Amino acid sequence: MILSKDPALQASKDALLFHEGRELRASNHSTFPLVLKNFLFQCGVKERQDRRSTMETSPSRRQFLNTTKSLGLGLGSAPLWTGMDLASAEEKEEKEKPSTMNTGLVSDLRYLEHTQGGTHPESPARLKAIHEKIKEAGLDKKLVPIKPTVDPLPFIKMIHSEEHLAVAGKQAHDDAICRLSVSGALSAVDAVCAGKLRNAFCAIRPPGHHAANNGEYGFCFYNNVAVAARYAQEKHKLRKILIVDWDYHHGDGTEWAFYDDPSVLLFSTHALYAFPGTGAADKTGKGKGEGFNINVPLPRGANDEAVLGAFKEKLLPAAEKFQPDMVLISAGFDSRHDDLLGDFKFTDKGFAQLTKLVMEIAGKHCGSRVVSLLEGGYNVQGLALGVEAHLEALLGKD
Ligand SMILES: [Zn+2]
Repeated sequence: MILSKDPALQASKDALLFHEGRELRASNHSTFPLVLKNFLFQCGVKERQDRRSTMETSPSRRQFLNTTKSLGLGLGSAPLWTGMDLASAEEKEEKEKPSTMNTGLVSDLRYLEHTQGGTHPESPARLKAIHEKIKEAGLDKKLVPIKPTVDPLPFIKMIHSEEHLAVAGKQAHDDAICRLSVSGALSAVDAVCAGKLRNAFCAIRPPGHHAANNGEYGFCFYNNVAVAARYAQEKHKLRKILIVDWDYHHGDGTEWAFYDDPSVLLFSTHALYAFPGTGAADKTGKGKGEGFNINVPLPRGANDEAVLGAFKEKLLPAAEKFQPDMVLISAGFDSRHDDLLGDFKFTDKGFAQLTKLVMEIAGKHCGSRVVSLLEGGYNVQGLALGVEAHLEALLGKD
């Protein structure tokens, strides 16, 4: 196997490999590791996607890196080069055991300061109930805390206009907390992309999936998940992001953000007849984004069977084709039974099953990278139970 030294290719930042007469060309250096990985796999080199923390000390990984080094490929510092190993079957089995200490939790008391006033359902009581449930269930000892530390403004501006920032900023009780909600999502993306954690849940508010460029909408000021997707692409050079939205309401803001963008696949289950009245199945994207927007409206009273069926029949094949580099979840729990604003019948067991399906996708395609963001959920005790089931699943509990 040789790496081309052709100066013309190097000048054009292309990379070319030959192996036993087969040719590989990567169009740029950021995608090169992933393309090379597939190439080597086709050439018979074993591929796997696994926890990076354990691979860093793997003797067989070192052996592989030494091999690639001797070939002049210098892969040791490649940022996306995290899925290749020559591990023995025993090592593979050992590494695939889920750790109980690799799920992060974004949490910050300042999120309790945001209010929409009076008896508004998007209230601080929602997060308080989640915090209490996490403690009561002993999950605080298992989850790795993440603080919102990223300056979100440059990335908020990649989704929202200056006009929107001006209007939403005035509408918000405290604009800094709304931005902190975005920051929490971005900090979780950092932790997961750095390989410090397998996945993370962001207990943030206000929610975001309705936010477009029209000021506050549906309790949302900035579109946390849309900004997080762009952030993963810009900061971490991930190309393809899958967003899975199981909130009762259609994520119209997220759809708006990526409707003509083939680099983000949005899959949403929701009630078509409810707010915001969007999300029809024939809205499939436009231009280059055609086919990358999948809406699955569900009928009143939709239960676990209905949503799991949609995930298995529509999400799994779409994800297989898309091959995401990261998966984000717009985790709304107003699709749970007994919610104040919804009439679906999802159960806590159902949320755990949805979580596991998303984790399977991420395990297969992107080193298990999942960041989940809280959206709706307005029966506070029900919300806390739904989040508990979601967290247990993220932690790897059967
Ligand atoms: Zn909702």
